[in-house]
Amino acid sequence: MRFDGVGISPGISNSMIYKFEKAVFQTDGKLVADVTVEINRFRAALDESLVEIEKIRNNIVKAHHPSEGAIFDAHIEILKDPVIIEQTEEIINVEKLNAERAYETVMNKYISMFDEMDDSYMRERATDLKDIKERVIGHLLGRKGYMNISFNEEVIIAAHDLTPSDTAQLDRNLVKGIVTEIGGRTSHSAIIARSLGIPYVVVSGNFIYYCKTGDEVILNGDEGSVILNPSDEDLDEYFIKKKEFAERRKLLESLKDSESETRDGFKVKISGNIGSIDDLDSVLENGGEGIGLYRTEFLFMNRKSCPDEDEQFETYREVLEKMDGRPVVIRTLDVGGDKKIDYIDIGEEMNPFLGNRAIRLCLDEEDMFKCQVRALIRASIHGNLKIMFPMIATIDEFRKAKAVFSQCRDSLVSEGCKINEDIEVGMMVEIPSAAILAHKFAKEADFFSIGTNDLIQYTFAADRMNEKVSYLYQPLNPSLLILIKNIIDAAKKEGKHVGMCGEMASNKYAVPLLIGLGLDEFSMSSSRIFETREIIGRLNQKEMKKLVEKALEMSTCDEVVELVAKNNIEQ
Ligand code: PEP
Ligand code: MG
Repeated sequence: MRFDGVGISPGISNSMIYKFEKAVFQTDGKLVADVTVEINRFRAALDESLVEIEKIRNNIVKAHHPSEGAIFDAHIEILKDPVIIEQTEEIINVEKLNAERAYETVMNKYISMFDEMDDSYMRERATDLKDIKERVIGHLLGRKGYMNISFNEEVIIAAHDLTPSDTAQLDRNLVKGIVTEIGGRTSHSAIIARSLGIPYVVVSGNFIYYCKTGDEVILNGDEGSVILNPSDEDLDEYFIKKKEFAERRKLLESLKDSESETRDGFKVKISGNIGSIDDLDSVLENGGEGIGLYRTEFLFMNRKSCPDEDEQFETYREVLEKMDGRPVVIRTLDVGGDKKIDYIDIGEEMNPFLGNRAIRLCLDEEDMFKCQVRALIRASIHGNLKIMFPMIATIDEFRKAKAVFSQCRDSLVSEGCKINEDIEVGMMVEIPSAAILAHKFAKEADFFSIGTNDLIQYTFAADRMNEKVSYLYQPLNPSLLILIKNIIDAAKKEGKHVGMCGEMASNKYAVPLLIGLGLDEFSMSSSRIFETREIIGRLNQKEMKKLVEKALEMSTCDEVVELVAKNNIEQ
């Protein structure tokens, strides 16, 4: 029986199902005689939960996944949240209700608040709250060792839902895959599964109802499919695919140290996108030639205050030193939209993606902006730094941002600080107004990086977080290709470097066209580097120039995809 769903962590595997059905705790709302005893019982449960979460966090950090460890730092903060504790204790005090029911009442209120949010990222945070709620109530009910998935052979875990702490405790040597009915690409469980290298598929259609522990299953995290009790033919096909997968991976790895070049000698750079220093090793292991985008906002998130100049300087220095002279494009803070930081009050906005975000917010919060720019300039002598401003819509904004850069540079020089005199200052082209006026921007910016994730959302007026309008994510639509051509041509005319750091840079149909358009740099998540280098190596730029001309004559995205596929670009 085949179930189709969404692949959220890649890889294929075949094993026995271990069906994980978590005990659902039933809390009885009983009255208590002594509220002090009850409050102490509640606090003891919080303490025990804290010890457990700290243990999970330390284990995952020890296993070299520090950024996933941060997920559990957030759990610890929720556990210690004074408002939640105060509200629970008030219910115990006033209503004389037992701790488990009081805590459940408070947590359920916050869980439904998150559950009802439009933003899918925020909705998935409800899972984190449920995770903590169940852990604490488990302790109150005397259930020690919250997670008790235990097996000593290879399995594929099947569950209705897996919390981040369930996922973090999985033994990557035994767990060959995960299937759940709930979850999304940006859920913390998905992030953890990807970093543990465990293939993961989310399927609906009552998979959990049909399967039982011991059933055989084939899971394909690339396609997003699961086959329950596969036939001999399914298994034959699986073994062929697995072999092909391994051979292809080996072939791609052989490209690690080679240049990125077309058959007719058009050389480009393939670099990596990173969100933190922890992602650097993976870029280097996958043959990244530089960093095309460092999203610094993650350094500012999940904390109580802004990182100060010295902390930022140390981080940027470390990144630059590790990249050992390879170019590193560091983007200044891009918060707002779906990325929130607690200590900056942006206020309620009707349309956060069209609101006070990125460079707009930085120009508004000038001290914070200056602090980052100073830290960057100070770090410049430790490597090959390029600074990039996000979400530039007008020439005035770019000039203002550059003025802040010049002021910071001049004051650092007068303070006697050693800096690199020739730091390139560029911009993301991700708003249609900038794409249209690229010929003017190209005279003032040292380089461009095309941010297609936002450029597509704004060109098609389709919120990138809203699944209902995801059909409008059309990187191959001629309207977008015309904008991209305009940007690349403008940069070339002024002799400026032009890269792309949005998802489109590794789209197998887009890459041939971008080669035809003359893009200099393709920046992407490290797992896409080998594949893209291999595609580029098969192309001939002269032919791709002709292909682009034809693509620009098309009317729809599908027509362009068909054109590229027909020209044998697809393997
Ligand atoms: C983009 O918009 O394409 C981009 C790379 O930036 P982000 O995804 O961080 O908005
Ligand atoms: Mg963007």
